[in-house]
Amino acid sequence: MPETPASRWLPSAEVRRWWDARQASLEQACRHAELSVIPQLTLQTGGGRGNTTLYRLDFLPLPAIDDTSDDRLYPESRTATSGLVEYQVEPAKAAWWLRPILGKQPFRMRSWRGYLLVGATILEALALLLLWFVAFVTMRGSRPLSAGDLSYLLTAAALSYLWVQAMRPLIRLPADRVTIANDILLAYDQFHGQFKLVRDAKSKLAGGWFQLVRHHASCSICSGDVEIADGGEAFPGRLIGRCSDSPLEHAFSFDPVTLRGRSLYPDFSPDPHGQVPLVP
Ligand SMILES: [Zn+2]
Repeated sequence: MPETPASRWLPSAEVRRWWDARQASLEQACRHAELSVIPQLTLQTGGGRGNTTLYRLDFLPLPAIDDTSDDRLYPESRTATSGLVEYQVEPAKAAWWLRPILGKQPFRMRSWRGYLLVGATILEALALLLLWFVAFVTMRGSRPLSAGDLSYLLTAAALSYLWVQAMRPLIRLPADRVTIANDILLAYDQFHGQFKLVRDAKSKLAGGWFQLVRHHASCSICSGDVEIADGGEAFPGRLIGRCSDSPLEHAFSFDPVTLRGRSLYPDFSPDPHGQVPLVP
């Protein structure tokens, strides 16, 4: 049976879109690693029998920040009028007790750090289950509950509640990919941070790269710091960027892949419907 050509299951337009969406993250990663080059995907479009499409990775010099167009020199000038923000990513510091596991660099979930993180979380959950199991075994039957039993149950309930609240960002991570790290999981001098899980294509539940980072941007309305927050009642189920100077009014969408966001309130968008094209 002839092999299915790659162009069938991997259309070049899709490859191009995947690559372009990650361009901003890629450039930032190269700059953080202090590289002088950036990989660029070059496409030689084929067509017809025996003329296949070819992909090539070129390594081009990273444009210096101060020798290109005004957009690079003054990114705010472009975003200020458009209601757009461009997020920057930087490493964030974990709480002291989590630091030995997380380290400073992103790590694969299928590494000793990843296994330790998952293992510790499962162990904690098992310890809590054990607490409830002991309660069930000792308190079943028809005897009345004593004051000691009640305080045991209350302690178990409080511990379970606190654990779920504290670990929620890590528990939700496989599904949400980006979650907000709470104060218990962050260093005392780190005010904002997000856990990020970048999946690799072949892995299922526990695969991918884990990192603790801080996404932030400059507010396109007032130049305040935009930090990632829960969307709350106004934007349920979403993470959004909120300006520290006007958190209720200056709110932006947050896309962890393209690292772009647009104003969530139509007043601040040039288009009355709030539909701002992400790429001008
Ligand atoms: Zn603002």
